[in-house]
Amino acid sequence: MSRSNKAEMYLDVLALHKEVTGSCISCIARFPNGQKVKFLVDCGLFQEEKYQQLNYQFSFDPSEYDFLLVTHTHIDHIGRIPKLYKEGFKGKTYTTNIAVELMSAALNNTAEILSSSIQKNSKRKVIVDSSIPIFDSSKPLYDLDDVSYAMENVIGKDYNQTFKVNEHISVTLLKNGHTLGSACILVTISYKGQKPIYALFTGDYSPENMFFDVNDIPKKIKDLPISIITESTYGTTSKKSIKHIFDDLVINSVKNKETLIITLFAFGRMQEVKYKLMKLQEKNLLDKNIKIYCDGKLSYKYDEIFLSHIDELKIKDFLPKNIHQINDYNERNALLSDRTCKIILTTSGMGNYGPAQVYLPYYISRPKCTIIFGGYTAENTLGRKLQDVRDNDIFELNGVMTTKKASVHSINELSSHAKQEDLLQFLQKFSNLKLVLINHGENHVKESFAKKIVEDINPKNVAILGPENYIRIGAHGLIKSYIANNYLN
Ligand SMILES: [Zn+2]
Ligand SMILES: [Zn+2]
Repeated sequence: MSRSNKAEMYLDVLALHKEVTGSCISCIARFPNGQKVKFLVDCGLFQEEKYQQLNYQFSFDPSEYDFLLVTHTHIDHIGRIPKLYKEGFKGKTYTTNIAVELMSAALNNTAEILSSSIQKNSKRKVIVDSSIPIFDSSKPLYDLDDVSYAMENVIGKDYNQTFKVNEHISVTLLKNGHTLGSACILVTISYKGQKPIYALFTGDYSPENMFFDVNDIPKKIKDLPISIITESTYGTTSKKSIKHIFDDLVINSVKNKETLIITLFAFGRMQEVKYKLMKLQEKNLLDKNIKIYCDGKLSYKYDEIFLSHIDELKIKDFLPKNIHQINDYNERNALLSDRTCKIILTTSGMGNYGPAQVYLPYYISRPKCTIIFGGYTAENTLGRKLQDVRDNDIFELNGVMTTKKASVHSINELSSHAKQEDLLQFLQKFSNLKLVLINHGENHVKESFAKKIVEDINPKNVAILGPENYIRIGAHGLIKSYIANNYLN
C-alpha cells in the first residue's frame, strides 16, 4: 500500500468465488487513522462439482473478520456460515428478521445431511436441498451444534432501518424480490472530515416476487454517489427468451390422465408452484378432484414459515385444494402403486437428494407420466441425466437398464433472478452512479454484461469482481484495481 494514500478512506472489495456459487465477498474498510475493519457479504457453499474441495478451506482467516452481512438464505450464500464460526469467526451476522428463521431451517437441514452422509460412510455424493453436492469425508463440514452456535450470533433487522455495526459503518437492508427475506444491502462508511463511501450489494436480485410487493428504493438512496456490486446470473438473458409452458404442461398431463411429477427446491419454488396450482384450480383449469401430493420434509418447514408471515404477504393463501403430505416410506410406497391421475410435488430440485430419488427412477420408464424440473439442474445430477437421455432410449439407471418412456421437461419461467432488462433498469434508477462491479455470474456472462452496461448506462466506471483482483473504492467510486496477492497486506 502506498503511504501517500494514508490520509484517505477506502473500501477494498474482493469476490472470493469465480462464478455463481460459494458466494462470499470480502471487504476491508481502511480509515485515515490506520484502522481497518474487515467484513464479509454472504458465505455460501460451492455447488459446482469442480469447486467442491473449496468448501473445506477458507482462503482467508475467519478470525480476522469483524462482521458478516447476509443478503438471503439460499445455501450457496449461507451454507458455510457454521464453518466460518467453527474456524474462529467471532463477529455478528446481520440479515433481515425473516431470513433468520429461514436460515435456521436451511442450515439445520444441511447439517443433518452432512452428518447422515458421514454416518452411512457412503462414498457417493449427496446433494442438499438446493442441490449442492457435498463430498463425503471423514468429518462433516459442520454439525447441528455448529449451526446452533452460529445462529446464536445472527441478528435480525427490519428493512429500511439503518443500523450501526461499527463506529464508522452503518447498514441499511432494502427489500429485494429474489426470495422471502432477501435484501439488497447498503453499506455506508463514514469518518470525520471525509466524504462517505456508499456501496450497495444487490445479492441475488429480482425486482418482483409473487408473494410480496417490492417497494422502490428510497429517492435519497437513488441520488447518492454510489458504487453498486451487482449480480449478473442472467446478465445476458432477455426476458423475451423465457418460455411460459408450466400451465399447459399441467393441463395436458391431467387431460391425459397421467401422473405428473414436479421436482422443486424446497424454499420458494415449492410454494410458488403450489400457488400456481391453486390459481389453476380457481380458474377451473385444474379439476379440484385431482389429488396433489407433496413429498419433502424441508418444504413443509418452509410452508410453515411462509404461512406464519401470511399477513405480511400480498397473497392470502398459496395451498391448493386436495393437497396431501407424504410423511413416510409406507405412504410413499402406497403412492407408487396408485395408478390414478395425480400430481406429485417433490424435492430436491435436481433429483439427487430427497424423495425425488424414489419417484424419478420409478416413473421415468412409465409412458403415462410427465416429469417437470422446476429449475436448473447441474451436471452429474439425476435430473440432468434424465433430461439428457433421448425419448425411448435404453440407459443405465442405478445399475438397471431402463427405457425412457416418461415425457421430461425443464422450465425456466420460475427463476427468481433478474434478467438483463431488469438489471439494467435497476442500475438506471441511480442518478449518481460512480461504479458498477459485476459479480455472481459465469465468466463470459460477466464480461458481456459489463460491456452492455458501458454501452447502455455508462457509469463513471465498470469493473468485474473476482478472486484475482480487489477493487479499491473511494467516495467517488473506483480508485484502482489491485492484484489479489497483495490484498491482505
Ligand atoms: Zn439466491
Ligand atoms: Zn446466488
